[in-house]
Amino acid sequence: MKILAILYKGGDAAKAESRLLGTVENQLGLREYLESLGHEYVVSDSKEGPDSDFQKHIVDAEILITTPFHPGYLTADLFEKAKNLKLCVTAGVGSDHIDLNAAVKNKVQVLEVSGSNVVSVAEHVLMSILLLVRNFVPAHEMIERGDWEVSQIARNAFDLEGKVVGTIGAGRIGYRVLQRLVPFDCKELLYYDYAPLPEAAAKAVKTRRVEDLNEFVSQCDVIAVNCPLHEGTRGLVNEELLKHFKKGAYLVNTARGAICDKDAVADALQSGHLSGYAGDVWNVQPAPRDHIWRTAKNPLGGGNGMVPHYSGTTLDAQKRYAEGVKSILENYLTDKPQEPQNVIVGIGKYETKAYGQR
Ligand code: NAD
Repeated sequence: MKILAILYKGGDAAKAESRLLGTVENQLGLREYLESLGHEYVVSDSKEGPDSDFQKHIVDAEILITTPFHPGYLTADLFEKAKNLKLCVTAGVGSDHIDLNAAVKNKVQVLEVSGSNVVSVAEHVLMSILLLVRNFVPAHEMIERGDWEVSQIARNAFDLEGKVVGTIGAGRIGYRVLQRLVPFDCKELLYYDYAPLPEAAAKAVKTRRVEDLNEFVSQCDVIAVNCPLHEGTRGLVNEELLKHFKKGAYLVNTARGAICDKDAVADALQSGHLSGYAGDVWNVQPAPRDHIWRTAKNPLGGGNGMVPHYSGTTLDAQKRYAEGVKSILENYLTDKPQEPQNVIVGIGKYETKAYGQR
């Protein structure tokens, strides 16, 4: 059978560092295993347009492995061409690059390695919150420039203690963010999610659920987005919702770029309505060179904590998601049941409740 993997190019870094498993060079460590079973394993980073390897090989591949870090967008149109396709595996967490409704319709299963990088992302969220609230990036840039003007940084630096912090989405990542915030003695930890946390879990981190999104954002000094991208969350943080944010709030988004409206967020940051925006996800990946989120700043010249999409692809995370992909393949190839928490779309139906209320 043909197994197609669309991964990112690792270049010299991947040649020098074999633990960069999620790259074209290191192929999730699967080549020997798959070839020993007689399967054809095609790995490429070429994913855009009709002449790409992605579109060329999707027509007869039975399994597609993709990664959110370099997403091969499997649209409804491509599903029509993918006549052999039975299984899509996401090397990581977040399968919005696959048209999940089309997967349901075409009876193609979609699996993720659930939980594989949730600690990696939660740690990144904590770092991003701190670097925005404490005005870290301009402070470091000042040091590199050779300058030393403490007041220019301190005029917009605060403590996290005593602030209200909220998460949109309190699943694996959102909850881990709340857990990690507990020792910071925030004024309150809030969450907005259509799925309430179990009582004991909410109690353990002393979080309060706010059911109305406008009310939720209006109470938060810091908001982190930790929900999947689906029809109900695309453009969720838009001009209208931003009007309900506290003036000077901070927004962190490591979930998916398209959950936040690109221009509305940039305008809010540039006007000072948002004091900061940080995260690693972009509405198009790789982000174009002139993407406004690369350079937008608040009126005091700070507040930008954007990085490329890497929070969930630390070397620790790559080991976990590479092992997870292998185990999903082993189950598939030997007709064993899959771990239920990994199944996003089963044969002809959604198995998860996280990709929208249906
Ligand atoms: P999860 O399934 O454990 O939790 C998602 C939570 O979001 C669920 O509780 C769900 O009910 C909630 N949710 C869904 N729609 C919502 C909505 N409209 N409003 C509020 N809450 C909503 O998933 P997770 O493991 O916590 O991951 C969350 C997302 O983070 C992934 O889908 C992915 O997009 C993103 N992610 C990013 C990276 C990265 O490297 N930046 C890595 C892993 C995951």
